[in-house]
Amino acid sequence: MKIKHFLYFAKFGLKTILWKRKDPILGTVILTDKCNLSCKHCSVNNIKGVIHPYPQVKREMQQLYDLGVRILFFCGGETFLWKDSNKDIRDLVIEAKKMGFLIVNTVTNGTFPIDLPEADLILLSLDGDREKHNEIRGNT
Ligand code: SF4
Repeated sequence: MKIKHFLYFAKFGLKTILWKRKDPILGTVILTDKCNLSCKHCSVNNIKGVIHPYPQVKREMQQLYDLGVRILFFCGGETFLWKDSNKDIRDLVIEAKKMGFLIVNTVTNGTFPIDLPEADLILLSLDGDREKHNEIRGNT
């Protein structure tokens, strides 16, 4: 993490603790409910099979940024399935960084090649050892 980003979060933390501020710092944009898995516990996959269009995603990112959010998560469905207007998850991560988000993360089920060096953090769902994981998520 860059020093100036660390200082931003330190200042935010101090304001929150000392002045009891309740400003948001972390936000999530859901890109799609499409998913290539059908995990046993899941109640959000493929309900409408919607891939939210790029302008909408960008607008939501901007809204979060304007609210003061600086840690952004992209969620699904499966985020690596998101594509619109020749853009994919990598374009969104780059766009978010350009917009000014300090930490940009994505959540994935890990069934697509994880080649996204622009992201700060990639959260991969694992439900235990191979046997337990596959029992819940199918043979992945
Ligand atoms: S990978 Fe995530 S979105 Fe897809 S079915 Fe499993 S829990 Fe649901």
